[in-house]
Amino acid sequence: MELKGFEFVIGSMVTLRELETHPGFCVYTKGAARDSVKDIVGVQFRNLATVGGSLYGRFGFSDVLTFFLALDTQVELYHAGRVSLEEFSGMPKDRDILVRVIVKKHSLACTYLAHRNTRTDFPVLACALSVDEREGKIVVGARPSKAVMWKMTSEEAKKLREGKLTDGEKEAMFERVSGETVLGSNMRASREYREHLLGVLMERGLDALNQEAQGGEQA
Ligand SMILES: Cc1cc2nc3c(=O)[nH]c(=O)nc-3n(C[C@H](O)[C@H](O)[C@H](O)COP(=O)(O)OP(=O)(O)OC[C@H]3O[C@@H](n4cnc5c(N)ncnc54)[C@H](O)[C@@H]3O)c2cc1C
Repeated sequence: MELKGFEFVIGSMVTLRELETHPGFCVYTKGAARDSVKDIVGVQFRNLATVGGSLYGRFGFSDVLTFFLALDTQVELYHAGRVSLEEFSGMPKDRDILVRVIVKKHSLACTYLAHRNTRTDFPVLACALSVDEREGKIVVGARPSKAVMWKMTSEEAKKLREGKLTDGEKEAMFERVSGETVLGSNMRASREYREHLLGVLMERGLDALNQEAQGGEQA
């Protein structure tokens, strides 16, 4: 895993533990890289599980996919070449090989939140939010299906970058995202509970980014 010019290049065999402890990447993502994997089983497990295996599976419960969708991420496939992670996430599973992950650097603010019934269990719902000089993103994972990514309007992203997002704008964003995100039930939680969690995680995430932009303490 290394920083090459304006991008982080992460080989497919990089472990989740390396992702969690890489100083440059953790600073760049404001700790969100660490937060996205810290509850996946335990350190011994994260020393073995890889970024390539985690993304290639495109699992519904994946914290890793949810997190990387919030960044400007591309994957390099042995046969298909470079594609955006968003496109890759929608591609049918075939026998290609994920060679590396490329994260382009921006002036980024991001945060990762997930709710688990018990620590180290699969997430009940995960939410990654990011804003940079170009756009703002909200990613909802563990719905329990595969993560989906929504873009903020340019006005919302601008306000969030400046720390000026109002309660009314937060509410409007939540209404839009919750209206478009298909949530479901499984053995971990009902659809109704996930709807409630989505509101909680989005509000906490947006407040954290808003306050960070104001130079205040993170919520
Ligand atoms: C008990 C348990 C709990 C877990 N909890 C969570 C959780 O809470 N959150 C979360 O996000 N994840 C969770 N995971 C998933 C875990 O983090 C890994 O993503 C998953 O186990 C894959 O592990 P691996 O990297 O060793 O891949 P492997 O097990 O080696 O491979 C998995 C599959 O992907 C294929 N593959 C591997 N690498 C590549 C590649 N580079 N290109 C193409 N195909 C490839 C393999 O052939 C295989 O079919 C959990 C897994 C387990 C077993």
